[in-house]
Amino acid sequence: MPVNFTELRYFLPAAWHVTPPISPGKRVALTFDDGPNPNTTPQVLQILAQTQIHATFFMVGRNVTTYPQLARRVAQAGHEVGNHTYDHPQLPNLTAAQVDQELTMTDVAIYQATGTWPRLMRPPYGSIDQTSAAIAGRPIIQWTVDSEDWKSQNAAIILRMIQQTTTPGAIILLHDIQPATVTALPNIISYLQAQEYQFVTIDDLIAQPLFSQWQYFGLGDQRSY
Ligand SMILES: [Zn+2]
Repeated sequence: MPVNFTELRYFLPAAWHVTPPISPGKRVALTFDDGPNPNTTPQVLQILAQTQIHATFFMVGRNVTTYPQLARRVAQAGHEVGNHTYDHPQLPNLTAAQVDQELTMTDVAIYQATGTWPRLMRPPYGSIDQTSAAIAGRPIIQWTVDSEDWKSQNAAIILRMIQQTTTPGAIILLHDIQPATVTALPNIISYLQAQEYQFVTIDDLIAQPLFSQWQYFGLGDQRSY
């Protein structure tokens, strides 16, 4: 059955949805937030290397500053590194100057660590307004499937969340700072592979150029707006 893909949602300044064409097939993109972390990120890298999967890591700038070599390892393994702000604030609560500082400091830290300027950003808590989006000036990557790994910190529950909510075209939110996520990850990958999902990057999931300031949620988002 053909699947109607990538529901790309853009609601800046007003809420409206469009559905552009997306690559056919059962595809999902894994994303890992809030790292890098010296204990857990290397384990995530090892699992992804063993399974030959490329993911996107939305890094917190202060962690990149503390662990630049780890950020470099992530990039050198072929994963995309995105901007997740410097201190993980609620962006709409900040002044424009503070938002600019959060993003710029992170851009610089990632660039210094990896040699690559982050092309994508994910706002902490998925929380962003029009002003922050304009300052970010790049595609805003949200998610479809929330593993809630930070909440349960339980590998079995994390796996079950993924099993119950993943559909083709999903962007899956995980945190590479959570030990339970590391424990769950091989089972998550095995499960999705058994379901014949392919793991792709954000760019490959959304089969058209990503637009600055647009918010991308992937398909089948459970949230309502
Ligand atoms: Zn986060």
